[in-house]
Amino acid sequence: MSTSYLPHPARPAPTPWLARRWSCSTETLALLASLYFAVAVNGGFWTGAMQGRSLSSVAGWGHALSLFAILTGLQFVLLGLLLTRRSARPLLALLFVAAALAAHAIWRYGVYLDPAMLRNALKTDAPEVRELITPALWRDLLLLAGPPLLLLWRLDLPRRPLRRALGRRALALGLGLAVVVGTLLADFQGLASLMRNHKELRYLVTPTNVVYSLARATTSTGLRPAEARLPIGNDARLGPAWAASARPVLMVVVVGETARSANWGLSGYARQTTPGLAARAPISFPRVATCGTDTETSVPCLFARIGRQAYDETRIHREQSLLHLLARTGLDVQWIDNQSGCKGVCDGLPTRQPKPADHPDLCDHDRCLDDVLLRELDAVVRPVGASAGGRRPDGQVVVLHMLGNHGPAYYRRYPADDAPWQPACQDDDLSRCTREAIVNAYDNALHHTDQVLSAAIDRLRALASTHDVALVYVSDHGESLGEKGLFLHGMPYAIAPDEQKQVPMILWMSDGYAQRFGVDRECLRREAAAGGASHDHLFHSLLGLLDVQTATRRPALDLAAACRS
Ligand SMILES: [Zn+2]
Repeated sequence: MSTSYLPHPARPAPTPWLARRWSCSTETLALLASLYFAVAVNGGFWTGAMQGRSLSSVAGWGHALSLFAILTGLQFVLLGLLLTRRSARPLLALLFVAAALAAHAIWRYGVYLDPAMLRNALKTDAPEVRELITPALWRDLLLLAGPPLLLLWRLDLPRRPLRRALGRRALALGLGLAVVVGTLLADFQGLASLMRNHKELRYLVTPTNVVYSLARATTSTGLRPAEARLPIGNDARLGPAWAASARPVLMVVVVGETARSANWGLSGYARQTTPGLAARAPISFPRVATCGTDTETSVPCLFARIGRQAYDETRIHREQSLLHLLARTGLDVQWIDNQSGCKGVCDGLPTRQPKPADHPDLCDHDRCLDDVLLRELDAVVRPVGASAGGRRPDGQVVVLHMLGNHGPAYYRRYPADDAPWQPACQDDDLSRCTREAIVNAYDNALHHTDQVLSAAIDRLRALASTHDVALVYVSDHGESLGEKGLFLHGMPYAIAPDEQKQVPMILWMSDGYAQRFGVDRECLRREAAAGGASHDHLFHSLLGLLDVQTATRRPALDLAAACRS
C-alpha cells in the first residue's frame, strides 16, 4: 500500500465577519430575541420592578432572577406562538425597531405604553412627530435596534421536515411555559404582590406593551361618526333667560393644552406666569382635577355627560357630546382648532382649522401660535342682527382648542421676543437642557397662553355693550417637568402625579351676562377658591351657565348652582 501525498488543498480565505452567515432554528432565534429584549430594552421595567429592592441581598437577587425568568419566558412563549420560518425575520425586524422606539420613549420621557398612550400616538399629526424626532431618538434607534437587525440580516433559518419542526416547537413552548409556571410557583408572593400593587408595570414590558396596546388602541375605540352617536338630552330647551332679552349671547369655551396648576400664576405659583389674567380678575378655579392625563382621554370626557366619576370610554365615544346637545337647542355652535382636532366632540358641527399659509406672521410651515385663534374668533363673531344661517341669531357658542403648552418643544409655543424667563430650553430633546431651562420654556409658554386669554377677554369686553358675553378656560391635563424623573404626560391615571392631573380653570363674564343668567359672581368666586372642582363639572356647569333645561343636567355638578339668583 503506497502512501500518496496529495497536495494540501488551498486553505479557503477566511470569510470577512460581516459577510459570514449563521444558521439556527426558529426556536433558538426566539430565545435569543427574548433574552435580548429582557436585557437591552427593558430598563424602564427593571427600574420600576426593582424599586425598593437591593442587589446586595440574596432576596434582591432572587427577585431579580424570577423577574428575569418570567420576562424572558413569557416573551419567548409569545414569540414561539407567532414566529414561523418565513415570518420570523420580518416580524422580529419590526419588533426590534418597535422595541427600540418604546425603550426610547419610556427611558427619556417616563411614559407608559398603555392603549391610551398608543391611541394618542396614532392620532398625532406630522408636526408633532417632527418635534419628537431628535438626535437622541436616532442614537437610541441605532444602538438598540442596529445590532440585532444586523445579526438577523446574516442569519439563515434552515428548512426542517414539518413533523420534526412541529415536535420541536411544541417541546420549546412546553419548556418555556414550564419556566414561567415554575418561577410563578417558586416566587408567587413576590411576583403577585408586585403585579397587584404595580399593575402599570406591564405597560413597561417591551415590546409586548407596544403589540398589546396597539391592538387595543386600533380595535376598541368605539368611536362613531356623529349621526350614529346616541343623542343625549333629547328634552333640552333654552330656559327663560333667553326670552328675557334680545341681546345676542356669546359663550367662548377655551380648551387649553398641557397647562398645569403648579406653574399657573393665578393658582399660586411663585412666578407670575399669568399677569394679564391677574389684572382682569376672572373667577379662578386654581386646581381642577382632570379626567385623564392625555388629550385623547380628557377632551372627549370634558364634553361628555359621564365624566371621570363613572368613566366609560366606549360609552363616551358612543354618545353625543355637550356640543351636539347645545346645537340641538338651536344655538350656533362651532369648534376652532389649533391642534390635532376635537377627538369626536365636534363631529358633524361647523369647524375651522386655521391654515398656516394664511397667517405667515403667526405660523411656521405646520404650526401656529395660539394668537391665530383670536383672528378666527374675530372672523366668526356675529354682529347684532346678522343672520345665523338657520341657527338662532342670538346664541353663539365658540370653542377654541389651543396648542397651549404642547411639549416637548415648549419654546415653539411663544414668540421668541416675548420670553420673560431665561435661559429657556431651545431644544426638542429635553434631555439636552437643564431642568431650570425646561421650566423656563414651559413658563414662557404659559405666559403666552395668559396673553392670548387676556386678549380674548378684551375682545369680549369690547362687545359687552351689544352682547352678553362669557369665557371659560380649562386645560385638558397637566405635565411633568422632571419631578420624580418624569417628563411630559400620559401616565396611567391611578399612578400619575398631581402635576399631570391638576389644571387651572377660569371663568369670566360681562355684567350683562351675569345679570341675565342670574350668576352671583362673588359667591362663585368664593366657591371656586374653596376647591373641589373637576372636569366632571364642565358639562353640567355650561348647561347651567347657558340656561339649558334638560333632565340630563345634574345640578350637583353645576359649579354655579349655589350662586344663582
Ligand atoms: Zn393635551
